[in-house]
Amino acid sequence: MTKYVAAIDQGTTSTRCMVFDHSGRVVSVDQKEHEQIFPKAGWVEHNPEEVWTNTRQVVAGALAKADLTAGDIAAVGITNQRETAVVWDRTTGKPVYNAIVWQDTRTDKICQDLAALGGGQERYRAKTGLPLATYFSGPKVRWILDNVEGAREKAESGDLLFGNMDTWVLWNMTGGVDGGVHVTDPTNASRTLLMDLDTLSWDEGIAADMGIPLSMLPEIRSSSETYGQVRERGALAGVPISGILGDQQAATFGQACLSPGEAKNTYGTGNFVLLNTGTDKVMSENGLLTTVCYKIGDAAPVYALEGSIAVTGSLVQWLRDNLGMIGTAAEIEQHARTVEDNGGAYFVPAFSGLFAPYWRSDARGAIVGLTRFVNKGHLARAVLEATAFQTREVIDAMNADSGVALTSLKVDGGMVVNELLMQFQADILGVPVIRPVVNETTALGAAYAAGLAVGFWESEDDIRANWAQDKQWDPALDEETRERQYHFWKKAVTRTFDWVE
Ligand code: ADP
Repeated sequence: MTKYVAAIDQGTTSTRCMVFDHSGRVVSVDQKEHEQIFPKAGWVEHNPEEVWTNTRQVVAGALAKADLTAGDIAAVGITNQRETAVVWDRTTGKPVYNAIVWQDTRTDKICQDLAALGGGQERYRAKTGLPLATYFSGPKVRWILDNVEGAREKAESGDLLFGNMDTWVLWNMTGGVDGGVHVTDPTNASRTLLMDLDTLSWDEGIAADMGIPLSMLPEIRSSSETYGQVRERGALAGVPISGILGDQQAATFGQACLSPGEAKNTYGTGNFVLLNTGTDKVMSENGLLTTVCYKIGDAAPVYALEGSIAVTGSLVQWLRDNLGMIGTAAEIEQHARTVEDNGGAYFVPAFSGLFAPYWRSDARGAIVGLTRFVNKGHLARAVLEATAFQTREVIDAMNADSGVALTSLKVDGGMVVNELLMQFQADILGVPVIRPVVNETTALGAAYAAGLAVGFWESEDDIRANWAQDKQWDPALDEETRERQYHFWKKAVTRTFDWVE
């Protein structure tokens, strides 16, 4: 009897393998960080081979920790940092270049040139649900084909494959050069700027605009079905791989946001708010993305509105690694608690330009409102508040797009252990913030997608039944103070524009 489902979470900073039981509780976890490569200002890369090595290690590690073997695992699901693009040679299995990470802004010129073909930044919005921005995969693939010697010729002769991290991991797990399965799911495909949101297939016209041969693109299957078995002789040998969801969609699924109107916010490297809009796709008029939320087997796709924020938790990392102001991420809360408020300081972390709702690649970070009074504690607060203010901006946009005001927000991710941030988030939104017992919703969502495909879980009702609340924060700030602070935040944001010439 198989009692468990495994999930591989190939994230921005680390790769994790988690094993879950039928009640959705974590049985075992192993995790390994990979190198963040910053070759130039605005560039961010990962080494795909390091990521694949780490994947194998954490899979072995997670199973060993709970004394499990492949025979105990019913299925494995994959979830991943989205948009991060890998191009590799199908005959050697070697990447032709490092993975270009979602935060990377090197494709700014490519995006501008595409916009100039007509339609501007909204050129592909009606088909893909996305603005033209450096965030998405398509322009990154174009950059590799333009800049890596010999890549375009090889791509045109059918020797190169493209994938986001889900596809890279799946292809390797299912045999690599020896018959690897070249597949993705609609949640990942919807982040490439190449997929038609209605047909869930690649759009030939956009691929032609970007100069990307269709032969490079993975087959788009559903988010929950068996794609193949683990082929390599590792800890999971023979186990079906039967779920793929981009990390934010996986978290939405793991948070049981399975009905229209339900939303979650994940606080990790960046923040991502997703609102389930059901089988209707809502086109945003306020700077949000329209994206596929999940597609379970043959059922109709479910769509979401998304507010993507590039820099939240990574601002805390920056304070730790670049300034040495704190020793660990958790220390930021102690510093923030030494003061009553931000002392007038606002920190807008536009390190990768600004994503939702602005989509400005010309923005760069700024700390404003400084006086001789401002100290370390105020800055620590300003850093945490930046996450909450940016979240408020995308929730405002979501309320405007959907015409319904959100009444509470489910939260998860690495930053939600920060009590001060959670209270401030409730204060600045004016609605309760709710944290579930299982905070590892990303891996859990991928496990659910995989487990549903093999009958380990019967239906989405099992997912709803497994969700349980851990803690709730209620708003405690008066409206006048809240709106005054938000007004200054908005003003601070305008100071970051027009910084790239
Ligand atoms: P990801 O999945 O994007 O790699 P995680 O969900 O693991 O990220 O969250 C890690 C992020 O959370 C890091 O950017 C880190 O700086 C931040 N973080 C971790 N602990 C805290 C804390 N106590 N307070 C504030 N931020 C934190």
